[in-house]
Amino acid sequence: MSLAGCTHPHANRDVLFQTSTIYALLDGLYDGNITCGELKKHGDIGIGTFDGLDGEMIGVNGKFFQIKADGVAYPVDDSMKTPFAMVTFFEPDQTARLNKPLGYQDLEKYLDQLLPTKNIFYAIKIGGGFNYIRTRSVPRQKKPYLPLVEVVKDQPVFEFHDVEGTIVGFRLPDYMKGINMPGYHLHFITKNRNAGGHLLECKIKEARVEIDYTGGFYMGLPEDDNFYRKDLTGDKQIEVEKVER
Ligand code: ZN
Repeated sequence: MSLAGCTHPHANRDVLFQTSTIYALLDGLYDGNITCGELKKHGDIGIGTFDGLDGEMIGVNGKFFQIKADGVAYPVDDSMKTPFAMVTFFEPDQTARLNKPLGYQDLEKYLDQLLPTKNIFYAIKIGGGFNYIRTRSVPRQKKPYLPLVEVVKDQPVFEFHDVEGTIVGFRLPDYMKGINMPGYHLHFITKNRNAGGHLLECKIKEARVEIDYTGGFYMGLPEDDNFYRKDLTGDKQIEVEKVER
């Protein structure tokens, strides 16, 4: 925890690192701008997508996976690129034991009441057993790229019953609109690391909740013509809700 300043020995590790912006991704900027090897220098836990919107990314304990449109999790090679991702080094400041059968909305409420403020960033890890999990992934896109709202209209959805695994993600403040998605954004991977996706619904059986308070933010932007020319003005919150919830 680095809220108090620079006295913490790992203060520089309490930084949420993000590449590109959610509005750029919404508007079809799917070309990777940094390698996963570079991304991993900024964190050992995280979520995102891949070059060409080729599936959902989840990183946990320093190992990163790609959940493709077939729902299968593949190990990520350092040379693979990402157009949009966020990572941090996970050092939990708070842990809790959860054995209530919470669905996604109740889980959000439960997590909210554990947090000291809604004004900083949080990395979240929830490992354990789940009665039910529903995820989605996204299929690799070909140019010219369609906007994300079009792509998710026929997104593949996956269901898991009585499964063990880990939910990983972030809670971001409301003021992050335009840069990223306010609120919770969670991905899931099974315990044996063979399937998962972007979390749509869950029913927790018994799990350990770990929360990392993150007081810093760093955003790296693509340095290419596509990003330079993209109109990133205006309010796209309705689209963000459509593609990520
Ligand atoms: Zn996602």
